[in-house]
Amino acid sequence: MTSSLSWADRAAQVRPDGRAVIAGQRVASVAGETFAKHSPIDGRFLADVARGQAADVDAAVRAARQAFDDGRWAARAPAARKRVLQRFAELILGAKEELALLETLDMGKPIQYALSVDVASTARCIQWYAEAIDKVYDEIAPTPRTALALITREPMGVVGAIVPWNYPMIMAAWKLGPALAAGNSVVLKPSEKSPFTALRLAELALEAGLPPGVFNVVPGYGHEAGEALALHMDVDAIGFTGSTRVGRRMLDYAGRSNLKRVYNELGGKSAFVVFDDYADVARAAKTLAGSMFFNQGESCNAPSRVLVHEKVADEFVAVLQAEAPKYAPGHPLDPKTVLGALVDDTQLRTVLGYIEAGHAEGARCVSGGRQVMADTGGYYVEPTVFDGVDNRMKIAREEIFGPVTSVIRFSDEAQAIALANDSAYGLQASVWSDHLNRAHRVARALRAGTIHVNSYDEDDITVPFGGYKQSGNGRDKSLHAFDKYTELKTTWVRLD
Ligand code: NAD
Repeated sequence: MTSSLSWADRAAQVRPDGRAVIAGQRVASVAGETFAKHSPIDGRFLADVARGQAADVDAAVRAARQAFDDGRWAARAPAARKRVLQRFAELILGAKEELALLETLDMGKPIQYALSVDVASTARCIQWYAEAIDKVYDEIAPTPRTALALITREPMGVVGAIVPWNYPMIMAAWKLGPALAAGNSVVLKPSEKSPFTALRLAELALEAGLPPGVFNVVPGYGHEAGEALALHMDVDAIGFTGSTRVGRRMLDYAGRSNLKRVYNELGGKSAFVVFDDYADVARAAKTLAGSMFFNQGESCNAPSRVLVHEKVADEFVAVLQAEAPKYAPGHPLDPKTVLGALVDDTQLRTVLGYIEAGHAEGARCVSGGRQVMADTGGYYVEPTVFDGVDNRMKIAREEIFGPVTSVIRFSDEAQAIALANDSAYGLQASVWSDHLNRAHRVARALRAGTIHVNSYDEDDITVPFGGYKQSGNGRDKSLHAFDKYTELKTTWVRLD
């Protein structure tokens, strides 16, 4: 940390600006309404936030449309867009402590990870798409000699981005990077639980030279600002990250409005499959704990179903029991803390409700299971491990989105594959095996968008991220994300 003040001292001075950013200006909501945003760390008041509704979304979409139509961004050469977005990434890194502090105060994650993961990944994402955009080529089709058929990509137009609170900046960047690089205008609706970093990103983008109106942010509730954006007749595509429940609505909104493209990145219940032929059971268990309890378990890809071969299950659980307490919750502004606060009281109750359900259905809680640090006024839950779980139990079927994992035992490979795939979700999975054939065989058989082999959560902007089944469609990250924010145009030229 470059400042001599502690994070706690600096936090006391933070006064976030909760106004929207539309057409390059900070503005209050049209109706003048706000909602109060408190920190999940200790309940402290952070700021009043503009409560965006249909009129605000309308103003933002109008600004975005105008910016798109007059070509102030879309018509610039790719190399020129690259320079602006590179500068944007530099400014994000330049503001890393401010952004990390806002993220931690807003949604409760440990400050060390807000800095090393959230800010760093956000900047890297913007920078990567900036660098990509003047290196992607269009295509010429293999037609007869009497024709020249060009297949070109064009920006979609106005993209609505609706994102969750678990990685507020990163989720926004996964939409902004490819959408802006491709020349679109964007209206971003951050979660009402974490609006502040999105609003600061919009200011930094303007400072970097992104023309006004190209990137607008309307904070507000999902059923108000989110719904208005997804129903808007002048929005061409929605990039949504959030729950499967709301993802269904996105499809409905598109059907009821202009059939805008909908790309859903939704929930998960990822399986972590450990075979008895994997020699280092302890390593597998330690990796599980690290991935599961990272971000308080509030990760879409949290490995929350641990399928372990019965021969190594006792050893695995013993290591996990020893590891879990190392992720005990701490104050998020303490640089040593590894597990912070859950995002709000609703999430706390949801997680505690699942823990109760686990007990009620006969699973054995072998570590954690309680709310702690309630005297802080914040929302903290111990890292929790259930053993003896049956895949039909509620805790194995539903996404908990908290620091709770379930150990399910299996006896052979076919059963492991069947259990892993017996889920409405298909975001990620992992297979732990020292046998090349088995690792590949099982990786092929698992129905999920990402399969980790002898690892978990090792990730990079260069590879697609997204799910099978009810975990969504479309993919964030990598060059494939351009597919979501561009239209393909065929231009057929007859040659005489
Ligand atoms: P959520 O679905 O409640 O909210 C997501 C966003 O949608 C928020 O901005 C919210 O305000 C908005 N919204 C809510 N109701 C709406 C409505 N009726 N109309 C329009 N917009 C509405 O999800 P959440 O609780 O913020 O986030 C957690 C979920 O996100 C989990 O299910 C998690 O798995 C998922 N997630 C998925 C990925 C992925 O890449 N697949 C990544 C991160 C999080």
